[in-house]
Amino acid sequence: MTQKTIIVTGAASEAGLGFATARMLAREGHAIYLTDLDSDAVEARASELRGEGLTATAMVQDVTDAAAWTELVDTVKKDTGRIDGLVNNAGIAVLRYMADLEEASWDKQIDVNLKSVYLGCRAVLPVMEAQEAGAIVNLSSVAGLVGIAGTAAYAASKGGVRLMSKSIALEVAAKGIRVNTVHPGVIWTDMQKVAIADNPDGYDAINAAIPMKHMGEPDDIAHTIAFLLSDGAKYITGAEFVVDGGLTA
Ligand code: NAD
Repeated sequence: MTQKTIIVTGAASEAGLGFATARMLAREGHAIYLTDLDSDAVEARASELRGEGLTATAMVQDVTDAAAWTELVDTVKKDTGRIDGLVNNAGIAVLRYMADLEEASWDKQIDVNLKSVYLGCRAVLPVMEAQEAGAIVNLSSVAGLVGIAGTAAYAASKGGVRLMSKSIALEVAAKGIRVNTVHPGVIWTDMQKVAIADNPDGYDAINAAIPMKHMGEPDDIAHTIAFLLSDGAKYITGAEFVVDGGLTA
């Protein structure tokens, strides 16, 4: 298989979806750029992969910062001459009912979850257009498909990711570039641990509400992303892949 160059954002969390994806793609033989705000953790994750003999580079990046995207794309282009894949994974969730939803929290979730995807796509598309090839996977959520009380800002950001991705997909489809979204249900990562921190019954209650009766694993999402980046998905664009154990069926 030809080695691809793929950027995965938000890849520093050891139990997170970004690192699971980076690890799976690296084990498939691709050169992975792991980015995150957390400099020590992202370097530790990349070094873990290099320890397995894989090709992985850590970059510190705030995905809400346009200049950081330019720097990242310039570095990857200089190192490898191409960008075959981008996984816009970095995200935050602050669950609040509307009555308690502060403007700053709204702004932050829209910036980190939605604006970042706009900035990331805008930064890599010229490189992919010049190559006449590339694939982008944007992380949405089941909260980008159906209403969930307490998630107004998060849902707005993830619903925005879904339709922005479809619009971009249509703009670049004829140029050999594919753009798709993945919609995880409940996957046991730090994000979920924080979300249910105040509710000791939360873990069992979530499992009970899922038709398959258990949360997903990060690798369940990584497999889907790896497929969407692969040549096996070469006729798939503007699509949404729901990975939720039946939660929204
Ligand atoms: P996580 O909290 O475990 O990891 C998110 C990572 O993003 C962290 O390493 C964090 O440092 C990084 N990050 C946050 N803000 C950043 C910024 N401004 N710039 C760069 N990096 C930043 O989260 P996760 O559960 O692995 O979620 C990954 C993605 O999947 C997110 O977009 C999330 O919304 C989405 N998602 C997760 C679930 C779930 O159940 N875990 C469900 C649906 C969607």
